[in-house]
Amino acid sequence: APTIVLFRRDLRVDDNAALATAADRGAPVVALYVLDEETKDLRAMGAASRWWLHHSLAALGRRLGQTGVNLFLARGRTGEVVAKAIAASGADWVLWNRRYDPSEAAVDARLKAGLREKGLTAQSFDGALLHEPLLLKTGSGGFYKVYTPFWKAMTDKVHVRDPIDPPGRVDGWQGELGSLSLNELDLVPTKPDWAQGLRQTWRPGEEGAQARLQEFIERDLAGYERRRDFPSRLATSRLSPHLAFGEITPFQIFASLRRSKSSGTSKFRSEVGWREFSYHLLFHNPGLAQRNFRPEFDAMSWRDDKRALRAWQHGLTGYPIVDAGMRELWRTGWMHNRVRMIAASFLIKDLMIDWRHGEKWFWDTLVDADAANNAASWQWVAGSGADAAPYFRIFNPVLQGEKFDPQGDYVRGQIPEIGALPDRYIHRPWEAPASLLQDSKIELGKTYPTPLVDHGAARERALIVYQSMKDGS
Ligand code: FAD
Repeated sequence: APTIVLFRRDLRVDDNAALATAADRGAPVVALYVLDEETKDLRAMGAASRWWLHHSLAALGRRLGQTGVNLFLARGRTGEVVAKAIAASGADWVLWNRRYDPSEAAVDARLKAGLREKGLTAQSFDGALLHEPLLLKTGSGGFYKVYTPFWKAMTDKVHVRDPIDPPGRVDGWQGELGSLSLNELDLVPTKPDWAQGLRQTWRPGEEGAQARLQEFIERDLAGYERRRDFPSRLATSRLSPHLAFGEITPFQIFASLRRSKSSGTSKFRSEVGWREFSYHLLFHNPGLAQRNFRPEFDAMSWRDDKRALRAWQHGLTGYPIVDAGMRELWRTGWMHNRVRMIAASFLIKDLMIDWRHGEKWFWDTLVDADAANNAASWQWVAGSGADAAPYFRIFNPVLQGEKFDPQGDYVRGQIPEIGALPDRYIHRPWEAPASLLQDSKIELGKTYPTPLVDHGAARERALIVYQSMKDGS
């Protein structure tokens, strides 16, 4: 009888334990992707993620096709779709790679129990993470809340296995499931076509992921530790969306680094380690995207300011480094990590807007939107998270811009309307002399906004509000 392999955020053929096990079994393989937007508690994917998913499924379909397997696409509740696929194909094994978002893991646990009750074989495998969040424990048996000891424990205790070879020719099941075409999944609206910048920037799919990894290792790994904070250099791997959709595994990344003597290797490994840590936190704190990790933050008085929120979302705060980041996000579905921190800090601390509004916007617009990394990072910036930035650390958007984009190349690339300003004023246009603004064809308040808030005053306000929250007053 056939084996069903469920695909979710593991859209790859290489290093795919579930697929390799199915191929080894030798029975016909049914590859199935279920778009489950019906099961309660599963968070709906954002628009940028849906765009990525569409193209990633297309790439996966092609790769599976080369091995002889059809990719079937379906919509509905996971359990019901799998039951139908079993009825239609006569499959007696169902395999998948594990998910660690607690609401997704719960769906999978119910599925496994249901299948086993019926006497079928249901088995799950690793692949998304180097560590099993349930198994890595502190000395006292709890979970880790601080990154450094977490990463030390990972390094000391977790064996990083080699990637699993892709199967050769597989016996693909040739029947019909009444499945949908990719366009019928309806992931991306045809009008309006907002995805031009995404198409120009990305190549979803595992071949794109492998090409990115090789290019990064050859070109940028040496010096990663020095250059990773400078957004105009594009010196980071930009693997995040590929990782988020499981087109590449951390096992493959670590295996490729094994022979590397480059200076940036250990820093890069530890950044991938932050992803492990975020999942560790999410696994043990299912509400990480909705609830403050530190409950004292529930008393925080956030401002309800829709106009300011909209200005931030659209890159119109008047602070060039913040606006450049938000526009990069809108155009390409991605933002450089340093700028994510600056933009998030601005929303939370300068505008005093609840971090959850920022988390939601990123969730909708990032191609790498990731349940663990996004929630953990937002809480980190807010100070409400585990191992978070201290509340009195408030990024100064001007000084951050001058430090990490000293020639203003990043800002000029994203905000051409202020591009003619000299380096000295590129991060503080409001200080430029009127004649210079005129020569540069800039009319502050018209062609580019004046600052939404005065950073100095906003900083004082944030310190007072945070302090009174801490004092419980
Ligand atoms: P590289 O520097 O090349 O790092 C390699 C990989 O390590 C990344 O792809 C990522 O998987 C992981 N990584 C790197 N930095 C971090 C970090 N700080 N935390 C967790 N993992 C990290 N990352 C996401 O993948 N999805 C998100 O939704 C997301 N939201 C974020 C929101 C905010 C407010 C902030 C400050 C950060 C967020 N990050 C998120 C983390 C980080 O910004 C991105 O992972 C990184 O910018 C991706 O670019 P890269 O692949 O070139 O990173």
